[in-house]
Order: sequence, then C-alpha cells, then structure tokens
Amino acid sequence: MTFEDLNIIEPILKALKTEGYIQPTPIQERAIPIVLERKDLLGCAQTGTGKTAAFAIPILQILAKERDAERGPRAIKALILTPTRELAIQIEESFTAYGKHLGLKHLVIFGGVGQTPQVDKLRAGVDILVATPGRLLDLINQKYINLHHLKLFVLDEADRMLDMGFVHDVKKIITKLPTKRQSLFFSATMPLEIQRLADTILDNPRQVEV
Ligand code: AMP
Repeated sequence: MTFEDLNIIEPILKALKTEGYIQPTPIQERAIPIVLERKDLLGCAQTGTGKTAAFAIPILQILAKERDAERGPRAIKALILTPTRELAIQIEESFTAYGKHLGLKHLVIFGGVGQTPQVDKLRAGVDILVATPGRLLDLINQKYINLHHLKLFVLDEADRMLDMGFVHDVKKIITKLPTKRQSLFFSATMPLEIQRLADTILDNPRQVEV
C-alpha cells in the first residue's frame, strides 16, 4: 500500500516524499479512506502510530479541493482540539509540512501566552485551527472566533482531555459547532465515559483500532 493507492493528491504526495514517508502506517491506511469518504471516525490509537497524519492528510485534501471549487471567503473550516500546548504545536507543524504546496492557512492557539498575537493572526484569516480547549473557549466567548463555517472537527486524545479536566470545556465547544459537520474522534483508551462522549459528537461513525 502506498499513499498513491490512497488517492492522495499530487501536492500532498510531494510533501510526504520530502518528509521521507514511504508507506502509510496502519492507522493511515485505514482512516484516510474513511475521512475522504466524508464519514465520521472513531479511532482508537496511541501517539506514535501516525494518527496525526491520519487526520491531517485527508483534511488538507478535502479543504484544498473545496477551495479550488468554491473560492469563498477564508473562514475556519477545520478545527483540531487537543489537550496540551506541545501536542497543538506538533499538530500544526504536521499541517505545515504536509500542506506546504497547498496555500491553506493554519494557526495554533493555546493558553499561557498573550492572546493579542493569536487574535491578529485570526483576523488575517485561517482555514485550519489547532487549539487547546481553554483558550479556544475564551476567544469564542470574546467573539474573536466563530465556527459557523466549520466542516471538519477533530477531537484528539479524548482520554487525556478527560484526565486533564477539559471535558466540560470540550462539551461547551461542541455546542458552538454546526450540527452538520464531519467529526473525527481519537483516543488511546475507550472507557465508558469516553464512549459516551464519542456518542454525543459522532454520527454513525466507522471504527478503526490499531
Ligand atoms: P504521531 O503518532 O502522529 O505522533 O506520529 C508519530 C511520528 O511518526 C511522527 O514523527 C511522524 O512524523 C511520523 N510518521 C507519521 N506517518 C508516517 C509515515 N507514513 N511514514 C513515516 N513516518 C511517519
């Protein structure tokens, strides 16, 4: 199996070659077709399995194709919610690497730093937003962010969100999203509370476990 076999578009293939990715990992092989089919996904996968690329590659592909078709105003089309600043930064770096020939704009926001530089970048227009829950909610409440045009939502490391006490924030954020959207939910473990959270977010999801 190659990335070509997964019908990845040429500008992304070129970027993956630069990254030195020769073959998709098992989670990528199974998740990418589901996301490209525009189905919801419940992924049980640890960090280190290549799960970031498993959602970043198809999200970039979907948004690149839609932008070519629509050319509407820039608005947040994809949101990736992750529990820590370190993960948020890594995810944004992945979007930068795989999307470097696409011209989509990404931004990462997190707490513990001043919000003004983040707000300035939001004003300039963003297609893909990577965020930790607290800062995202702050900026939504201050009306610096609206998610009315969102098409794709990723909840990354759901079990860690729970452990870190972010579930209340996550649930509040969900209420700000359009109901018609595609959602991808990743967790390393699936205890009952996580399954229940997944049920509230996902619509008829396909499941992938690695
Ligand atoms: P993740 O599980 O998303 O944190 O990814 C773990 C590491 O695997 C990261 O350093 C990625 O750059 C790398 N990686 C992801 N997919 C591939 C692939 N298909 N081939 C080689 N390395 C990869």
